[in-house]
This record gives sequence, C-alpha cells and structure tokens, in this order.
Amino acid sequence: PVLRVAIMGLGSYGTRVAKAMQDCKRARLTGVISGTPSKIKAWQARYNIPEKNCYNYENFDQVKDNPDIDAIYVITPNGLHHDQVIRVAKAGKHAICEKPMAVNAKEGQEMVDACNQAGVKLLVGYRMHFEPKTLEVIRMRKAGEFGKILFFQGQCGFTIGDPTQWRLNRELAGGGALMDIGIYAINGARYMTGEEPVWITAQETKTNPEKFKEGVDETIQFQMGFPSGAVASCLSTYNMSHLDRFFLNGEKGFAEMQPSTGYGPIKGRTHKGELTQPHITHQTLQMDEMAGIILDGKQPVVDVSGEEGVRDLKIIDAIYEACRTGDKQQLS
Ligand code: NAD
Repeated sequence: PVLRVAIMGLGSYGTRVAKAMQDCKRARLTGVISGTPSKIKAWQARYNIPEKNCYNYENFDQVKDNPDIDAIYVITPNGLHHDQVIRVAKAGKHAICEKPMAVNAKEGQEMVDACNQAGVKLLVGYRMHFEPKTLEVIRMRKAGEFGKILFFQGQCGFTIGDPTQWRLNRELAGGGALMDIGIYAINGARYMTGEEPVWITAQETKTNPEKFKEGVDETIQFQMGFPSGAVASCLSTYNMSHLDRFFLNGEKGFAEMQPSTGYGPIKGRTHKGELTQPHITHQTLQMDEMAGIILDGKQPVVDVSGEEGVRDLKIIDAIYEACRTGDKQQLS
C-alpha cells in the first residue's frame, strides 16, 4: 500500500515536499489544506488532486470522512502546529508535523497525548534522520569507530531577510533562530553523540533589537553536558551566513560535516576519509521512510516520533530559561 498524504500549508517548504513526493514509491500527495483558494486551484492542476480532497483551515476536520487521505503533513508556522495536529488526531488521521513540532515541551506533549488517545501516529519532519551520510556517521559511532565520544560542535544559522515574515513574529514562530535553525544543532548533538544532555548553559546576544523583538532570539550560544562526560558547544543564529557545520570528536577519530543539515548534498569526512554515500532528495527519502513507519510499523535508525520532538523542545525550553536567568539548567 501507499501512504496517501494531504499537505496543510502550501508555503515554501510545503511546495518543496510536494515536488519531492513526486518521486516517492510509498507516499503520494492526495489532498491539500490551505486558506488560499488560488493556491488550491494551482495545486489541484499540478498534482491532479480532486475537489473532494481539498480543505481549508475551517473545515479540515471533515477529513475524518475521507477514505482517500491517511495522513496530514502540517507545514504551517510553528505556533499553529499544536492546535492543527490535535485537530488532525481528532479527525482520526496520522499526523506528520514540521519541526519544531510545537513552541514548547508542554504543547508538544499535549500533541503526543492527543495522537496516542486517537490511536494515530505522530511523526516529526526530521529529514536528516534518513540522510545517508548522517546515518553512516551514526553507524560508525555505534560501531565504536570514533572511540569514546568527547565533543560535538554544531553551528547552524543564516541571515534572515524580510522583517515582516512570521519567523520574526513571536506568536507564530514561538521564538527566533533557535526554534527554526538552532534546533538542528540540538537534534544533531543528540543523534551524533547518541546521548541525552544532563545540563545546559546558554548565552544570548542581540545586535538588532528592532528586527529581533522581545522573545525572538537572534543569536544564542549554548553548551550541553552528557552523562558520559562528553560536551557540546553550539551556535544558533539568524545573523550569519554559511553556517551549517557539525563536528564530532572521539578518542579514536572524528567526523565533520559541512553542509551538515542543508537540503544537500551533505558533505563530510571522517578520520577514515570522505563520506561517499549518495545524495537522495531528503524529502523523497523521508516520505518513503515515513510511509514504512506508518504503514508497516518500521523502526527508523533515528527516532522521528512525537516523543523525539518533545525531547528537543525540553532542551529548547531549558536553553531559553538559561538565557533568561543566566543559570546552568539541570535536565532529568
Ligand atoms: P512559509 O511561510 O513559506 O509557509 C507557511 C504556510 O503556512 C504559508 O502557505 C501560509 O499561507 C500558511 N499559513 C497558514 N496560516 C498562517 C498564518 N496564520 N500565518 C502565516 N502563514 C500561515 O513557511 P515555511 O518555510 O514553509 O515553513 C513552514 C514550516 O515548515 C515551519 O514550521 C518550518 O519550521 C518548517 N520548515 C522545515 C524545513 C525542513 O527542512 N524540515 C524547512 C523549512 C521550513
């Protein structure tokens, strides 16, 4: 069987996912949810979507009665994910939700609970969890090829443009760069080291308070400590270009990736040489793999469940708290 997916939010990333899904073997775009009728028309024509599979933000609860849609992929601004995913769950459909899955851990947990209660799956759009070079580094780490892991560095950022966009609106974005791009360093620190942090320290700097208003972070540096004694040092920013780099250091070797989380091709090398795994369009691979997870109960190498999304949000909550108070945060 094929996973029949409706995309909610026909913006720039939704458009990218829809294009990539054209090459999927196990996932197919069968519906859309949008507030813009002209976009719905254009997508219907382009992807051959019947009228009965088109919804808006008011009526999409009716997807409940639509047997041609198995899952809804929520690709809207961060602050909307919580309510939308809960409505998807109540409509009895599986939910795939973009990162960050919500704007704090409490909301994320409510989404997990709602999906559990409804008996539907909740997956988060962590496309790097399926990326071949990333998976090779994880395989090497698990095989002990780096020895004991000592250090991770994650640097994630870009220079953000238009000051009126939702990414710079606290209500819709839930924060600033950390929510949007810094989350890749958090998530990467966890999958590269294979550990969950036990403490966090963080420092925020802001060069442009006009553009980056209260509650919208421009630049945050943060550090994490792991149970093994390994440490991480990370940078999240909306004010630097070409910042997309991971570095993992162990007693017996290293991995470095740059770019490390962009749309690819990902490039990288280890102490053993270049990473040569093929580039596959991330979203094509992700959607085929997610179809396997939802339809066959397949277990991914790196978790993409709602619980995984909540783990990142707990760390995001702690980073913001560390910035606010200046205090080291202990995580349990
Ligand atoms: P975008 O602004 O291009 O698209 C957002 C869409 O949501 C638009 O079509 C907009 O019309 C719609 N929308 C619905 N209600 C809205 C409202 N109240 N206010 C504003 N827009 C509203 O944004 P995007 O870049 O597509 O990002 C959407 C989501 O996808 C975000 O959560 C983002 O973090 C995530 N994303 C993930 C990746 C990835 O690589 N995994 C990449 C880009 C974006």
